[in-house]
Amino acid sequence: MKITSYGAALEVTGSQHLLEVNGKKILLDCGLFQGHRKIAFEKNQDFLYDPASIDAVLLSHAHIDHTGRVPYLVKKGFKGVIYSTEATRNLCRLMLLDSAYIQEQDAKYFARRKTKQKGQSGNVASLEMEPIYDTADAERSLEFFKDVPYDKAYKLFEGIEITFVEAGHVLGSSMIQLDIFDQEDNKQKRLIYTGDMGRDRLPIINDPHNFDEADYLICESTYGNRNHAPIEEGIPELGRVINRTVKRGGKVIIPSFAFERTQELIYSIHILIDQGKIPKNLPIFVDSPLATNITDLFKQHIELYDENVRENFRLGHNPFDPSQLKHTNNVEESKQLNFFIGPCIIISSSGMCEAGRIRHHLKNNIEDPKNTIAVVGYMAENTLGRRIVDGDEFIKIYDQMYKVNAEVIILESFSAHADKDDLDEFVGSIKGLKKIMLVHGEPTQSEAFAERIKTYSKAEPIIMEPEVTINL
Ligand SMILES: [Zn+2]
Repeated sequence: MKITSYGAALEVTGSQHLLEVNGKKILLDCGLFQGHRKIAFEKNQDFLYDPASIDAVLLSHAHIDHTGRVPYLVKKGFKGVIYSTEATRNLCRLMLLDSAYIQEQDAKYFARRKTKQKGQSGNVASLEMEPIYDTADAERSLEFFKDVPYDKAYKLFEGIEITFVEAGHVLGSSMIQLDIFDQEDNKQKRLIYTGDMGRDRLPIINDPHNFDEADYLICESTYGNRNHAPIEEGIPELGRVINRTVKRGGKVIIPSFAFERTQELIYSIHILIDQGKIPKNLPIFVDSPLATNITDLFKQHIELYDENVRENFRLGHNPFDPSQLKHTNNVEESKQLNFFIGPCIIISSSGMCEAGRIRHHLKNNIEDPKNTIAVVGYMAENTLGRRIVDGDEFIKIYDQMYKVNAEVIILESFSAHADKDDLDEFVGSIKGLKKIMLVHGEPTQSEAFAERIKTYSKAEPIIMEPEVTINL
């Protein structure tokens, strides 16, 4: 059998790894390249494999960088089945429709720019202006999904069994174990794909599963060379940031992924209110329709919560509904926030600030030193979010420059990815590994991780490069 990465190789976006075994082609995730809008838009145009030749897709979780090309795969001729957990499928309905809307908006935006450029110079930019898929394509792709339960082996094809287990990353997330009888050399082999691996003790969801043994591992390496601040520090630190800003009379602006991070923030803020650590009457706004819909979906998957949160639900206390929280329902309500006077918290998407309503909130608030921009998620290279994290003095939003006078704070403990120590512990405890394929990491992270693996494992670490095939 063999494996080839077509995305999330030497980078953290566009996850798609093609496993070829026993005459079958099994795609592990089918993610969209995200990050800088124009670069991502171009990269997403072509598949480097034939979608019609894929027999099955296994989705680890609903993040768009792992699922966002599914509608395009179907549009380009995929005829197989897409397997995921039930929660991932439910989340994909919201996420893929939202992604389709963004594709349509981006296409219009680049078309406008092209017209403008043509008017200015006579040159026509080479960008393809069609969205790669629209909402109808996204709807259609949902018909290809099939649910698989956690912790139960499912026969995918003759000699190939798959088992989805908890990844502890986001609601519905899974690592996938494939037990394969390889007809090429008549050997039984176990391959594990981590998808994105979470951390122990993350709020809301359960901890990642541990494996006893396997032959091959495809392992994410987002934080292959960095440790996070302990999870326990996240909520108190958020409390201090909120109080400091309120004291100055400012606003806390939090760019946040609509899925999981926003729900974690609401949950954390609710705890701070219950504990009397932040003012009880402080207005909180979630300004993202997608985040609002996903929060509703979270309320339907109580079975996936950890014991703490489930207990809260049993006591009739909904951790996602603090009384002073308001979801904006439409663009008008969102615009009204521009005129809101006094301290408040605004949580808005997109997480990396490349699109969405967060750009308006940054534009309106980043120049005021009373305010705080609290970064709670990963900011990929070449994004507006990364420029804020890097401490740029001026940033450009909608073609205009703004001076960063607001306090910028990075709350690292909110990460939903395993860190350096978590990864070492996870990999070090799996017996029998022969090869470890490192994906989903920038080279500075995966190279250091590979070096460490050599010190505690007999397995050969391989940093996956795009389109390079590894025989297993
Ligand atoms: Zn993820």
